[in-house]
Amino acid sequence: MSSKLFTLEVQTRQRSQFIDITSEVERIVTQSGVKEGTARIFTLHTTAGLTINENADPTVVEDILMELNKVVPLNDGYRHMEGNSAAHIKSSLFGVSLAVFITGGRLALGTWQSLYFCEFNGPRQRKVLVKVIEE
Ligand code: ZN
Repeated sequence: MSSKLFTLEVQTRQRSQFIDITSEVERIVTQSGVKEGTARIFTLHTTAGLTINENADPTVVEDILMELNKVVPLNDGYRHMEGNSAAHIKSSLFGVSLAVFITGGRLALGTWQSLYFCEFNGPRQRKVLVKVIEE
């Protein structure tokens, strides 16, 4: 088993935004030369997350963000003085890591699946680590 670690920079443009990072992660997998294995994806932040969801209709991720703001309002008497508790809560709800199988040198994703970087406290410059493991 061998592995290589890569860093992906993600520039977000809005306070809350889903950014499709599938093609960037695919590029890393190709660059690694790994044909069979796993890509582990981890983001180094407490107010952002990662998820996999539909890529065909962009209104799907818009609906997710819209409903998420109802479940976790921006202001709700939070005690954290920095004023970004909603973003911290959303980060924990989504989680900060994903694992996707690699087969035939490509990510084994379903037809409608994309990898999304989930910004909850933007705009910011963000970092995502991608570890490509041959196994
Ligand atoms: Zn904070």
